[in-house]
Amino acid sequence: MKCPKCWYQATRVLDSRIIDEGMAIRRRRECEKCWYRFTTFERPAISELVVIKKDGSTQPYDRQKIRKGLLLAFAKRPISLADIEKIISELESKWVWEGKEISSTRIGEDILEKLKDIDPVAYVRFASVYKAFDSLEDFARILQENEKN
Ligand SMILES: [Zn+2]
Repeated sequence: MKCPKCWYQATRVLDSRIIDEGMAIRRRRECEKCWYRFTTFERPAISELVVIKKDGSTQPYDRQKIRKGLLLAFAKRPISLADIEKIISELESKWVWEGKEISSTRIGEDILEKLKDIDPVAYVRFASVYKAFDSLEDFARILQENEKN
């Protein structure tokens, strides 16, 4: 991070604090050359997260897929769309700090962990189908096929 005053390349982090419900980090920095102190707000982007599937292939993280899986798991359950979005945001704020890559298995397990406390029916729906499959895409497809039958 460059010093905004003298443009020197090296700055030292004095203090870091996670803010904005885990979605950003505030850092107090000091220039190693002119000792100017300044504050930065850094936000890791969830759009840069890469999902590693069980077969080793990778794909960009897609919030839409998680939403689709949750909407199906919560079908006809007493929960609002806003609550579903909140669940996803909470999960994302956790994943985004754990590195640039995450396994699809881990995503599924974290979702299950969350559903367990929120709605036992949605939990069982998600667990019964998700565990046997690698991706949320599969999960959505299977549930939709079940509903047609
Ligand atoms: Zn400086």
